[in-house]
Amino acid sequence: MSGINIKYTKLFINNEFVDAISKKTFETINPATGEKIANIAEADKEDIDKAVAAARKAFSRNSEWRNLDASQRGKLLFKLTSLIERDIDELGRLESLDNGKTVSDAVFDINCAIDTFRYYAGWCDKIHGNTIPADGGVICMTRQEPVGVVGQLIPWNYPILMLAWKWGPALAAGCTLVLKPAEQTPLTALYLAALSKEAGFPAGVINIVTGYGPNTGAAIASHMQIDKVAFTGSTIVGRKIMEAAANSNLKRVSLELGGKSPLVIFDDADVDEAVEIAHNAIFANHGQNCCAGSRTFVHEKIYDEFVKKATLKAEQKKVGDPFDSNTEQGPQIDERMMNRVLQYIQSGKSEGAKLETGGARIGNKGFFVQPTVFSNVADNMTIAKEEIFGPVQTILKFSSLEEVIDRANSSNYGLAAGVVTKNLNTALTFAKSVDAGSVWVNCYDYVVPQAPFGGFKQSGKGRELGEDSLKEYLEVKTITIKVPKQN
Ligand code: ADP
Repeated sequence: MSGINIKYTKLFINNEFVDAISKKTFETINPATGEKIANIAEADKEDIDKAVAAARKAFSRNSEWRNLDASQRGKLLFKLTSLIERDIDELGRLESLDNGKTVSDAVFDINCAIDTFRYYAGWCDKIHGNTIPADGGVICMTRQEPVGVVGQLIPWNYPILMLAWKWGPALAAGCTLVLKPAEQTPLTALYLAALSKEAGFPAGVINIVTGYGPNTGAAIASHMQIDKVAFTGSTIVGRKIMEAAANSNLKRVSLELGGKSPLVIFDDADVDEAVEIAHNAIFANHGQNCCAGSRTFVHEKIYDEFVKKATLKAEQKKVGDPFDSNTEQGPQIDERMMNRVLQYIQSGKSEGAKLETGGARIGNKGFFVQPTVFSNVADNMTIAKEEIFGPVQTILKFSSLEEVIDRANSSNYGLAAGVVTKNLNTALTFAKSVDAGSVWVNCYDYVVPQAPFGGFKQSGKGRELGEDSLKEYLEVKTITIKVPKQN
């Protein structure tokens, strides 16, 4: 159908593609059809041990990687970036096949990944410590050293981009890594592994293990020889990662978790523009976005007009085959997530929200859900509190800035927030008061490699992107040199 040749289905350890020791495999499914794409190697603890041993060897004191000039690490990352650019069409189609996003969305993501790799390639030889005027006449300096072998667990919603957010800072810092893509979307990570070998990364620096979370993923989180784990996914699994780290070797943990982000539209906003921002904030990537603007608060004076226009916009969305260039929304990632979204829609209806449009599955092949809009949503409804992770807009009404700040903050999450207004005081007061790692004013989901991204409260721990992400992969070493007193 897609005409795509699946080249890589095995584990990538020590620069070689190998079967799992058990020879076990699992199926990766095309979410647009529900059909199998390929059998993928399923790693157990023994395979993780093998991958970690390769990563440890590559990180050892006398290894090629540890002795590369920092600028050479940058060159390897630049080389990898140009190989991704060379293969962008094939990667875009592969990502679309495995994930269900449209090919053009996949290519957009890959371009963001390219920007991320370039950004971190440039950092390699600019990571440095300080000299410190320490007491006692000593010479004191700090070195920023790589934290070691890192385990990286990523989700299925932006497979290549999440990999770039993880590999970029880890490799710039000089770490070696073992990454597990999500079981739903292993194909592009394996392809990128092949590109990393072609780029010239030494054996063992980059390892990819595929498999399920509770088995393969858990073996990474609890591994005694992994120095840090970086995770992106659900808050519930994030808790398990911290627990596994605490119960094993107290490895460092960074987490990018869920959200229930408020987007607040004031009555001075241009309604058409606000409808557009709010629509993209929730419907981008079929709602499968941790920072989705999933609570749309609209001022009472423009509420009815907004709801009417937002509904029309959702009704116009073209849902269908991700390989059709007219398609704007593909399927949800799998049957489980589709059913979860449908259950949330059911709860919205039964708890008294008004279903303006959508609300049902489309067809019975693949995992498509109608773009859905609820109005008259109250703060205590399940759809206003829990992360739906689907194409479901929930529109709430508010009347004052003070009120909406409190309501925006009455969530365990704190990943992102947005405000649409022409009033600078309103924008700044909201931006200052909201509990969120990213606040977007008159825009939404503006994520770039240079600026940090991450969560307050139960949305995460640590930051990705920007200089802040590098710090997650670095240890600070203080060196103090005693200088003999001159007589
Ligand atoms: P989602 O609910 O969106 O599928 P998850 O948080 O379950 O997201 O998964 C994100 C990533 O974490 C995936 O790579 C998944 O395989 C992995 N994962 C899931 N459960 C565990 C676990 N218990 N330990 C380690 N990794 C896990």
